[in-house]
Amino acid sequence: MRMGMERSLAMRQAACAVLAACLIGLLLTVLELGWATWRERGKAAALVEQMLDLVEGSAATAAWNADDGLAAQIGASALSIDAISGIEIGMSPTEPLWARFRTDAGWSDSNPGTSQPGALGALVFGDLALGERLLYRPLPNGRAEPAIGILRIHLDMRRISADYIAFVLSALLGGMARNLLLGLALTLVFHRFLTKPLLALEQAVEQIAPDNHDKKARLTAPAGHEHDELGRLSGRINEMLDRLDCSQQMLRQLATRDSLTDLPNRALLNERLDHALARAGRVQRGVAVLFMDLDRFKHVNDSLGHELGDRLLQAVAQRLRHTLRQSDTVGRLGGDEFLIIVEDVSDPKEVIQVADRVLTALARPLDLDGHQLQPSASIGISLWPEDGADGRQILRCADTAMYAAKAAGSGCWRMFSAEMTGRAMARLATEARLRAAEIRHEFELFYQPTVDPADLSLRGAEALLRWRREDGYVSPADFIHVAEETGLINPIGEWVLMEACRQAALWRQVQGDFTMAVNVSPRQLADAAFPDKVQRALSESGLPPALLTLEITETVAMNQAAGDFIMLRRLRDLGVGIAMDDFGTGYSSLSHLRRIPLTALKIDRGFISTVPGDVAIAATVLDLAQRLGLETVAEGVENEAQRQWLQHQGCPLMQGYLVSRPVPADIFSRHFLQGVPLASSG
Ligand code: C2E
Ligand code: MG
Ligand code: MG
Repeated sequence: MRMGMERSLAMRQAACAVLAACLIGLLLTVLELGWATWRERGKAAALVEQMLDLVEGSAATAAWNADDGLAAQIGASALSIDAISGIEIGMSPTEPLWARFRTDAGWSDSNPGTSQPGALGALVFGDLALGERLLYRPLPNGRAEPAIGILRIHLDMRRISADYIAFVLSALLGGMARNLLLGLALTLVFHRFLTKPLLALEQAVEQIAPDNHDKKARLTAPAGHEHDELGRLSGRINEMLDRLDCSQQMLRQLATRDSLTDLPNRALLNERLDHALARAGRVQRGVAVLFMDLDRFKHVNDSLGHELGDRLLQAVAQRLRHTLRQSDTVGRLGGDEFLIIVEDVSDPKEVIQVADRVLTALARPLDLDGHQLQPSASIGISLWPEDGADGRQILRCADTAMYAAKAAGSGCWRMFSAEMTGRAMARLATEARLRAAEIRHEFELFYQPTVDPADLSLRGAEALLRWRREDGYVSPADFIHVAEETGLINPIGEWVLMEACRQAALWRQVQGDFTMAVNVSPRQLADAAFPDKVQRALSESGLPPALLTLEITETVAMNQAAGDFIMLRRLRDLGVGIAMDDFGTGYSSLSHLRRIPLTALKIDRGFISTVPGDVAIAATVLDLAQRLGLETVAEGVENEAQRQWLQHQGCPLMQGYLVSRPVPADIFSRHFLQGVPLASSG
């Protein structure tokens, strides 16, 4: 590029300077020649006139007296003058000439006295070649008499022409040399004051790498040009570079930072991870990646609004920043997912400490506009080089481990292990099959009776979901969590609700008052339209609301922010019952329990299985439920001793294998409504 510029600017400028100088010089030379020609012509004409004046008197005397001697004298003195080539004197203007003198041999009568000039000489001086004057008697007073002769002077045209051509040539050559010198001088001046500093400036510009962010390279004006146009030009370029730097920084910020939390975004995190792995390879240390996902974030967003959701994310980002070392990287992958990159790992224990520190820091209560939140997260950990060769693999492993942490409950971390990949693959396969199952209507409801322990009279049923496959029925324990994670639980749950209500309304006609219990997942509760769906199921089936009980799990109820009780209250307002399922397995706080709009408690099977040996918890829960005015259902009653104890304690309802396993609707209907003995159970 430099050569190109040199060629184009310096050479073109030199060519232009020389051409301009030559053209101007040529014009001047032509003018000079014109003027010199005019001057030479004047000189020649004057010479002829002078000679005529000088010789006129003596020539008249010689002609009058026919004095040959005098004529010869006149001829000799005239020819002694260089520019005169001939002189002629005649006795009368008309008669042939009498005395003729010449300097060259070519003079003849037909070519009287004029030596042949060159073409140029003839062109310029041709009309001046001959001067003529009539001669009169040499009287002192005037020339009244007729002429007595004629005088002719011939100029030496060859000589004058040769002189003239030599002059023209020297003028042209001199002019040319002068013009060339002038052009050269101009080129040198241009080069020194323009091209050279421009080239220096161009070289300096070339030194500035625009993507070099560490070094703030700037132009210096070429020496001696600090205060002229070039100095100002480099100043302007520097200003532009400053502005370019600023906008580049802004663009980089936009492209690499998460606008909500100002943490590095996914693109920058990937870049940093690659960088960290490359460096770790050189220094022989490990790198850990912590994939963190907030627990129940969607719920906060849905119930408290996106603005508070955003503020929760910002608060989490701030806590993460304060908890981690300067050398660790923390960024937001999107949504409620964060990524932490820990470098220089020599022992996995260090990473576990980081995960614990993060979880503890997050768990501190947070007040957002009067809403008390207790953020928690699940963290999946993967290590380089143990779990994968590159950043992509490491990230995938951490993601898988995060799912394992989620499955283990909120606020946990899990290290990646190879089996997890197997589980993740199985999970993906289940998800795909679940979607197909929904389309192919492979879901079915089984019903388990709820009875009075005293007389085993039927009081209701719990609808339990089954997935009908070629190889038999699949229990919800094996697929419900996948349906939850993928959101498939919403359409499936809606169908369960409709079907259970429809069935309950049918059986009610036979059985009279009959309560149908339906399990509801946390994800369904997070759906603001859920009460409308319940309402629709009731009105379409014609089932009175009081005969429907929604079962929620303890953990769901406890983890709900205050806003969620609003959802439960809306459901209560519809007139449906709300039972807390598996009571005693979660972390219910008793103070919370008072505030949740419940109608029933279901004592978890785990506490019933120890009865009648260990009754402490079962008895306490029964007592608690009674004091809170809640109905109690004992789950998982498997033997007669348990039933008797429950009867003795005054527990109003129970369900369990003692009475029946969950069974298909037709079997339930035949056995429990029509009294046909139970042959088999599901
Ligand atoms: P759950 O609501 O606590 O249901 C009771 C579970 O205990 C049922 O398992 C039932 O078959 C089992 N069971 C009942 N009596 C006995 C007994 O005497 N001994 C033993 N060992 N087990 C007994 P199932 O049907 O496999 O359901 C498991 C869980 O799946 C349910 O627990 C419920 O949380 C969930 N689930 C079932 N259907 C649905 C549904 O339609 N929607 C949602 N969201 N969850 C459902
Ligand atoms: Mg249940
Ligand atoms: Mg249960």
